[in-house]
Amino acid sequence: MAEKRKLFCYVCGRVTDRLIEGKCSRCLLRDVEVLKFPRRVTARMCRECLRYMSRGRWVSAEDPEKSLEMAVESSLEELLPVSDIVDKEFSFGEAEFISPKKCSLPYEVKVTYVYKGLKHSEVKKGRARVSLVLCEDCARKHGGYYEAILQLRGQDGLRSDVLDELDTVLEGVKESISEVRTVKKGVDVYMDSLSQARKAAKALRDRLGGELKESPKLVGMKKGKAFHRVNISLKLSRFKKGDVLLYDGRELRVLDVGRSRVKVHDLTRGKKLHLPLKALLRAPILRKE
Ligand SMILES: [Zn+2]
Ligand SMILES: [Zn+2]
Repeated sequence: MAEKRKLFCYVCGRVTDRLIEGKCSRCLLRDVEVLKFPRRVTARMCRECLRYMSRGRWVSAEDPEKSLEMAVESSLEELLPVSDIVDKEFSFGEAEFISPKKCSLPYEVKVTYVYKGLKHSEVKKGRARVSLVLCEDCARKHGGYYEAILQLRGQDGLRSDVLDELDTVLEGVKESISEVRTVKKGVDVYMDSLSQARKAAKALRDRLGGELKESPKLVGMKKGKAFHRVNISLKLSRFKKGDVLLYDGRELRVLDVGRSRVKVHDLTRGKKLHLPLKALLRAPILRKE
């Protein structure tokens, strides 16, 4: 009978009866991390009916505390990998109210999953940010709580650097934001202040360039008075300041994006000029800033 071969882990040198990728199970699992959570986990709950948002639906819970926890739990659930999970446990700390529209909830998740045939547990801790918004039903009861909807659209959705700019601008008007919804090709920002919505739209156009339009809509009557909601739409240009475009066989560096005209530096001919925004909308971007 052949003697059983001794196996050594190449990392720690331990003798083991099973090696995976040359490592013992302890070494293999040491650095495994499949839970990748964003720096800030966010969740939503309606501050009026106390339902929480779970996979695009408003769901009722037994009590407000439970609803808050469930809001965070369902956001965390969406961040978990779908396969190979054998067990998961969620626990929560005490909620801290930051403002009437925002609170933070400490969480801990323990997830057990199968990794290369081995059972492994991982624990993640953090604080989730819960926005206390008005769900669509409660908003309707308020007779048009939203004063303005800021609709941001990009030709092929929103670029990640555009989203960064968006975060920065929205941070400045956050007290007026009741909801941010991701839609095809962009986002809708529901705001309870028209002036703040205009301010944000203008700031974004100045930073990113694009076409800004306002369309007031009569949405109903409130105490005998007409009630209006304003849609502010900003169609963003695909490019922004610093990008280099290919247009008419020339390389153009974007210097400034205006309402309808773009100031560019023609790198091929070495001069500065203004071109209509429309002409450049389809120009390929050679380099992004
Ligand atoms: Zn080892
Ligand atoms: Zn509600």
